[in-house]
Amino acid sequence: MKFTLENYLGNEPSLYARKVLRESGLKAAPICEKTVADYLGLELKEFSLNSSAQNPELLDIIKTACAWLQRRVNGKSRIWVHGDAYFERKRLSIFHECGHAILPWHEDFDYLCSDKDVDPTVRSRIERESFGCGSEFLMPRDMFVEDVLSLETSIYAIEQLRHRHVASMEPTAIRYAYITPGLCGIVMIKPAENQKPKPIVQDHTPPGQMVFPFRIPPKPLTIEDDKRYPLKVKYFVKSHRFPKYIAPGTGIEEGNSVFEAWASGRPLQDEIPASVFGSSAKWAYNAECIPLGKSGMVLVLLWLPDYQLKLDFKNAVIL
Ligand SMILES: [Zn+2]
Repeated sequence: MKFTLENYLGNEPSLYARKVLRESGLKAAPICEKTVADYLGLELKEFSLNSSAQNPELLDIIKTACAWLQRRVNGKSRIWVHGDAYFERKRLSIFHECGHAILPWHEDFDYLCSDKDVDPTVRSRIERESFGCGSEFLMPRDMFVEDVLSLETSIYAIEQLRHRHVASMEPTAIRYAYITPGLCGIVMIKPAENQKPKPIVQDHTPPGQMVFPFRIPPKPLTIEDDKRYPLKVKYFVKSHRFPKYIAPGTGIEEGNSVFEAWASGRPLQDEIPASVFGSSAKWAYNAECIPLGKSGMVLVLLWLPDYQLKLDFKNAVIL
């Protein structure tokens, strides 16, 4: 299948993935990456240290890439993925490359994508578009919303969704915050010492979300701040109705559950005052903090009680 000007669907990447899913008859999670690639006429191949030993071109690629869309004019185009990656990561990479393959304005180029390009925090517009399209393949919105509505807001819900859609924790959590109709957000926390001790201007567009027509610079922190704040906000993704925005770069002090979860390496559930995230608001969030393995990062799910009596989200009606 090939999208051209004749079946141009606009500039929203997820629409292209939805059309492919509809037309290929895939209606249940997990979406099979092989079926999607096959429907799009793309061959799936893996590269590894062994295969690269016989092919110098692959050796060059393997140094920097986790996935590669290799277009061929007279043959079948291919998606290469790193054979050593874990399964969920391969699926994310394959669907990401499918995004490059079907978005009409990505046409005619090979895409050699590194781990950073397939990362949800990627800054380049082209890569963000492909991430959006790939997320729709991996966790189709309709199926995902049904699952979200059937589960209480919690890390447990994200874990369930992750297993159902065979996806890694981080992209699933981002999708969860982005799609859920309730009041919730995901804060990714990282150690301050991993950052350079001077203000850096970065494009911190929240992953998977609308791009603002203006830039919101991260909060610059000084070296003194690094001592006061051992942790920092890497990024924040919120549901549409969550009432607060937490800026990337916000420092987190000691003496709260976020810090305790990070220091102990154990998950924690608690109420966390909004002031922990730099807000002057007097309320507290319900929160769950999950350390993410050896990465040194902590994923924090925040949510607030939803006092709307009933929200018929699927039909976009508030009762
Ligand atoms: Zn890419």
